[in-house]
Formats: sequence, C-alpha cells, structure tokens
Amino acid sequence: MPIPTFSYRHRLSVWRDYRLKMHCCRCEQRSTSIEVAGLIRWHGDKTFAEIVRRLRCMFCRQRPTFLSLVPMSASDTAMKHGGSWSIMLTVEGAAV
Ligand SMILES: [Zn+2]
Repeated sequence: MPIPTFSYRHRLSVWRDYRLKMHCCRCEQRSTSIEVAGLIRWHGDKTFAEIVRRLRCMFCRQRPTFLSLVPMSASDTAMKHGGSWSIMLTVEGAAV
C-alpha cells in the first residue's frame, strides 16, 4: 500500500495506524512516540496543523525539533535505521 503524502491539513484519522515520533535536539536527541489513535482520543480528530502547534517535548517543554510518522507495524529495529516507512515532518518553519 503506498504511503499517502503527508499534509498538515490532514486530520489525525488519516494516520490512525501510525505513531508520531517527536525528537528534541535540545535534549540530546531524546525522542518519544505517541500513537496517533491516542491523540485522537485525547484531542479529537483535529488536523495536524492544530496538533503540531501543541506538541511539547516531555523533558524540556519546548517544541520538538522534528517529527516523524512511523507505522504501528514497523519494528523498533526498522525505526532505528530510519526505515523507508517513516515520514519526516519538520516543525520549525513548517508551513501550517
Ligand atoms: Zn526537549
């Protein structure tokens, strides 16, 4: 199945089977991941433009440096090697 092209106008439900990984360069490349389905439960089916504005690093409370979407089915090993399934979304300077 081809990966849909990401758009900040997409609602979360478009990427329901994915995890949103947040990376924060201020915290020595710390990353945390959240299930998109979980975001829908907490915030409702908002657009990424609305959600990304609210995301904060769990450690320093600043905006994450970049985000990626990783399919739920991807193994942790594949994620570490930046598997072809992950989609990078830059936060800083993002046209939202
Ligand atoms: Zn941080």
